[in-house]
Amino acid sequence: MARRPRLLLSIVTAGAVIAVAAASAQSGAAAQARKAAPSKPDKVVIIVVDSLSKEIVDKYDMDNVKALMADGVDTPRSYLGHTGSVTVVTHNVITSGLLPKHTGWTNEGYRDVEDVLPDGPKVDNEGEDLYITSNWDNTSMFPVQQHYGYPKLADYLNDTGKVITISPKAYAAYGFGGAGSDSIITFGSVTCLDGSRWRGPVGIAVPGYISGTCGSRYYVERSKIYDTFKEPASLYPALDDRYVVGDDPDHQGGDIWTTDAAIDVMDNEDWSGLFLSLPGVDKAAHMWGGVLDPGPEGPDGDPMTHMEFAAATADAQVGRIMDELEERGELDNTLVVLTADHGSVAGEHFHGLYDPALDYGFFNWYFGDVENDPANYNLPQPALQPLTDAGNVGLSYSDSSINVWLKDQSPEKVAEAAEIMEGLPDVTAVWRNDGDHFTRVSPIRWERMYSGGERAWFARKAQELVNTQAADYGPDLVATLPDDTTYSVAGDHGGIQRATQQIPIVFAGAGLSSRDLQAEVRSVDIMPTILKAMGIEATYPMDGIAYTLPH
Ligand SMILES: [Zn+2]
Ligand SMILES: [Zn+2]
Repeated sequence: MARRPRLLLSIVTAGAVIAVAAASAQSGAAAQARKAAPSKPDKVVIIVVDSLSKEIVDKYDMDNVKALMADGVDTPRSYLGHTGSVTVVTHNVITSGLLPKHTGWTNEGYRDVEDVLPDGPKVDNEGEDLYITSNWDNTSMFPVQQHYGYPKLADYLNDTGKVITISPKAYAAYGFGGAGSDSIITFGSVTCLDGSRWRGPVGIAVPGYISGTCGSRYYVERSKIYDTFKEPASLYPALDDRYVVGDDPDHQGGDIWTTDAAIDVMDNEDWSGLFLSLPGVDKAAHMWGGVLDPGPEGPDGDPMTHMEFAAATADAQVGRIMDELEERGELDNTLVVLTADHGSVAGEHFHGLYDPALDYGFFNWYFGDVENDPANYNLPQPALQPLTDAGNVGLSYSDSSINVWLKDQSPEKVAEAAEIMEGLPDVTAVWRNDGDHFTRVSPIRWERMYSGGERAWFARKAQELVNTQAADYGPDLVATLPDDTTYSVAGDHGGIQRATQQIPIVFAGAGLSSRDLQAEVRSVDIMPTILKAMGIEATYPMDGIAYTLPH
C-alpha cells in the first residue's frame, strides 16, 4: 500500500493561524505548547481479521497490516485479554467494552440461568437451558445483550450517521453490531427462490444495492468443493464461497465480499460506523493447522483454502479499505481500528478424532444435546470419553481448552467431574467457576508445557484469563491446555495460549501519530478508547481502560 506523508491541518486558535507543517519539524516544549488539540474523529471503522495472531502477521508478511502498525498507533504488548478466545465472544467484547463475565455469554456454550430465551422443543429434559451461542442470530443474541443491560458502540454512533456491520459469519455479525446497528449484512442458510446454486445476503435492513436480486453480486456459489476432502481439512471443510473467496470472479465471497460491500456502503450512505469482519484466515487456520499449514499439495491442491492465500487476501482488503478512506478524504476524520477476535493454536498435539466418513470437527467441538440445535452431539472424541461416560455433561466445548457445563452442579458432582478432567490428555490445570472468580482445583502440570516462555505466560496470565468467564452463565469447569494442543480441529483457539492471545490491536487514521502504546492493551479496551478518541461520554461503566491515543 502506498503511504502518503502525514500532514497536519492548519489550526485556527484565537484568531491566529498556526501552520503546522510536520510534527517531526517540531521539537521540545515550545513545539508542544504550540500544538492545539487535534479535531476528533467522527467516524470509526473496525476491521476484525478473524484468527489473526501476531505470529500469522509475521509469518505471512502481511505488508498492509505491518504498514498500519508502523504508521499508526501500534500496541506491541497487546493481547486478547479474555477467554473463551472465540469469534462469538470477542465480536461482542470489542463493541461493548465488557469482559465475557458481563456480556451475557462467555463462550460457545451458554446456560440460560435468568431464563432470557424460550426453551426449545425438547422431548427429554436433558440439556435444557443450555445453548450453543454460535447458532444464534439476532433473535437470541439481542435479547441476551439487552437483558444484561449494556449499550453497544453502535448505540453511541448511530445518532451521527448510519452504523453498518458486515460479516459473512452470522453470529459474528449480530454480536459485533448489536441492535443499535442500522444495518447488519451477513449470510444465512436461506437461498434464493429460483435455485439452490446461490447463497445470498441476509440480515437486518440489508440495503437494496447489497441484497440485489437472486444471483446478483453478493450471492455466492454453494456446494463448491475445493481440496477440502483431504486430511486434516475435512474436519471442517470449505464447501461453498461463504468464508473463502471462491473461484468465481463475479461472486467472490469471504474477505472480498465484506470489503466490496463496505465500499458500496461508503458510496451510498452517510455513515458513522463500519464494523467489518474478514473470515478467511480463520477458515484456513482451522483447516490446515494455522502456521503449520504445509501449503497446497498434490495435483488437486487448491491454494485458495490455504494460509498463504488467506493471509494475502485479508492483507489486500486492509489496504483497499485504507485506500478508499484516503481517496474519499475521510482518513483524517475516521478512526480505524485493526484487530482480531483471537489468534490460532496449531494442533501439533491433537486429541480430536479424525473420521473421514464424518465432518468430525463438530463432534470434536461439542458434546451434548442442547437447545436450538437439531444435532445431538453424542459422539465424543475418545480423549474426552472418560468425562462424558460419567453421565453428567450437559454441554462441553473443546478447542484449545475444555469448557464444561454440568447437568448436576452440586459440589460433589462438580468435584467428581474436575477429578476426571485432571486426568484427560495434556490438561495443564482444572479451574472451578466460583461465581466471581475461578478457583484452581488441580495441581499445575508445568511439565506438560513446552517452553519457559509458555510457563512464564501461564504464571502471569492463566488466572486472569480464566476469571473473565466467571459468571453463572459460564462453564462450571475449565481445563487449560498447553501450546500447540487442540481437542477439535487442526488449528483452533479458545484457550489461554499465547498463539491465540497475542493479537494485533492497531489504531490508525484520525491524524494519529506513529507512536506506539506500550501498555498491555486488550480487546476490552478498544471501545472505551474509541469513545475517548471521539469525545463521546460513556453512559455505562465498562471493564476496559480508555487509553489516550497519541497525536
Ligand atoms: Zn474468530
Ligand atoms: Zn475460528
